[in-house]
Amino acid sequence: VTDTIDHVGEFRSRLARSAALAADQDIDALLVTPGPDLFYLTGYNAVALERLTCLVVAADRDPFIVVPMLERSSTLASPIGELDIDIVSWTETENPYDLVNAMLGNLDETIGRVALDDRMWAAKVLALRSAMPHVEQVPGNSVMREMRIRKSNYEIAALQRAGAAIDSVHAQVSDLLRVGRTEAEIGKDLNTLIQADHERADFIIVGSGPNSSSPHAETSQRVLHPGDIVVVDIGGTTGEGYCSDSTRTYAMGEPDPEFVAAYEVLQRAQATAVAAVRPGVTCEALDAVARDILTDAGLGDLFVHRTGHGIGLESHEDPYLVEGNSMRLAPGMAFSIEPGFYVDRKWGARIEDIVVCSDNGAIVCNNRPRELAIVEG
Ligand code: ZN
Ligand code: ZN
Ligand code: ZN
Repeated sequence: VTDTIDHVGEFRSRLARSAALAADQDIDALLVTPGPDLFYLTGYNAVALERLTCLVVAADRDPFIVVPMLERSSTLASPIGELDIDIVSWTETENPYDLVNAMLGNLDETIGRVALDDRMWAAKVLALRSAMPHVEQVPGNSVMREMRIRKSNYEIAALQRAGAAIDSVHAQVSDLLRVGRTEAEIGKDLNTLIQADHERADFIIVGSGPNSSSPHAETSQRVLHPGDIVVVDIGGTTGEGYCSDSTRTYAMGEPDPEFVAAYEVLQRAQATAVAAVRPGVTCEALDAVARDILTDAGLGDLFVHRTGHGIGLESHEDPYLVEGNSMRLAPGMAFSIEPGFYVDRKWGARIEDIVVCSDNGAIVCNNRPRELAIVEG
């Protein structure tokens, strides 16, 4: 986090907005344990562990956070130390769930409903239920999605930086793909390259030959052969906390003309969907833009997954570009556009870019060439 001052202001307004949204939904308190929601609201990048750390946000009071005593200093050192958040620490022999209940002023059971973050461990959900058995628990996503789904200018810039970081890895993929190397060896190299510009690698898919027909192939001990198609789908999380995710498809030498013809349709489907991004278009309509082009070419049955997923602090989050999702795109929404086609045990292909919806159409965060990359070697 470079300029702390701006960030403190941003976290303050996010906290205030989450409290207001919760109140609108008759939620007495929003309870947030370590994970992307806590990071979004406070900048505190705490690790989820068995001991309870829990931020409590409510409309009629200042937020507070319950933390284990041994984590008090790291909580204070985080942006939380600069926000108006009371730090309530608990010692090893105390019950932190009873403490949350007491701090909420619920000893006389006046609280009706709390919202819990989506990533809260089941053990904690159940312990909270035991500590406050008469309180209804509802998903915190109803509050957090509305906030996180539309990215601020700062977040859009962070996603563009994440896109540039993964593009620089894709720029080196052709050098790693060699006949005789295994997918796992290539994956190891990719892991190193991703970590150079990211905090961590989140996933590495190197699907070669028949493995390219499996959209979530990861890596295996399979050796690259001449004529293989190789799908490389990689992503990581940057130091700023934002995720990258991009796919390119490679061919080891001259590819089969049947594959090339299908790939050209795929490239057109992906480009047309990117060009169709604008506020007001529904998620399912955007899915259909890509799908219809593949279907018209007889490839529709081979496109076995949705067109895309939202991305931000998590690599998969709302909105999902899938049939049945009538949500309308709005400025600031960030998502992948990643149509593909997959022929069982034969070959597969996918082209994936992250885009952000703006008033002027898509801001494209990944800008590597989308043509089938032919690798000699
Ligand atoms: Zn996926
Ligand atoms: Zn993706
Ligand atoms: Zn991907």
